[in-house]
Amino acid sequence: MTNRRKFIKTSAAAGLGLGFGILQKAFAQSAPASNANASVFTDGLVLSTWDAGLPANAAAWKAMQAGGNALDMAEKGVNDTENTLSNLTVGLGGYPDREGHTTLDACIMDSQGNAGSVMFLEHIKNPASVARRVMEKTPHVILVGEGAYQFALAEGFKHDDYVSEESQKAWNEWLKTSQYKPIINVENHDTIGLIAMDMSGDLAGACTTSGMAFKLHGRVGDSPVIGAGLYVDNEIGAATSSGLGEAVIRTCGSFLVVEMMRQGATPQEACEEAVRRIQLKHANYRDFQVGYLAVNKAGEIGAYAIHPGFTYSLLKQGENKVYNSTSLLDK
Ligand code: ASP
Repeated sequence: MTNRRKFIKTSAAAGLGLGFGILQKAFAQSAPASNANASVFTDGLVLSTWDAGLPANAAAWKAMQAGGNALDMAEKGVNDTENTLSNLTVGLGGYPDREGHTTLDACIMDSQGNAGSVMFLEHIKNPASVARRVMEKTPHVILVGEGAYQFALAEGFKHDDYVSEESQKAWNEWLKTSQYKPIINVENHDTIGLIAMDMSGDLAGACTTSGMAFKLHGRVGDSPVIGAGLYVDNEIGAATSSGLGEAVIRTCGSFLVVEMMRQGATPQEACEEAVRRIQLKHANYRDFQVGYLAVNKAGEIGAYAIHPGFTYSLLKQGENKVYNSTSLLDK
């Protein structure tokens, strides 16, 4: 048996679940988009993580009605969440790291494949907008820490000393029993990942977070990492994630979802495969949560998580609603 055939057989036996056809196609050189001839959805839609996505979706839609494209929708949508300072997991109101600093991560990607990202940024209210400036005004993709902060100031963003009382209180509580090992569970992290499709059928996305609560100082998760927390390929579709960033980074999660769609998977099948990949690579997968969202050019949606409880918000055809994703550990 050739190595290639052996690998396909092993992978299928390991429960990859998508069947031989799709896996075989995955090895074809320069595989064309299998949905290249599929109809493109041109009614516009917004898909985002968690219940907090509802107002973000509405803000994205408003940006479109004001003449914005998918990129404007993505940026304005997540800005709405960043501006909601009562949100303890996104923006300056977010839980601090173990040293007491709220450090922010964000990225953005447009329909042309351009991308921008900021990591470990402090005192700036809208990291997703700084990420957009990195994308549009520099030859780079990523700026971090002090460099990202100085760039933001030079671009006219204001230093903001906002400190959330609630976040500080939670940190002080955590300090009483603080352990060196990061606490990982489904309660102490969250993010907004948002995918927008405008009425030309073009896709863009943004992802922004304060990351895991009480993380080590300097820790960066998946959210600002292109291909991990977000990926947009305007030919195929887009994906975003929320949950334990380390597991998403190790498996190149959002890129994987989009590539599975390129090979013919539906958005739902692709999200399920990315979660299964995490299961295969992490013996402790039951100890943490990861959820994926995806959309393809036809406007079909996928959503899947490790644990039940991953919700998402979808604005499509006049309705903006929260849905429960299915999950690996569904009973
Ligand atoms: N993915 C984020 C991170 O790991 C947190 C989350 O979505 O819950 O930083």
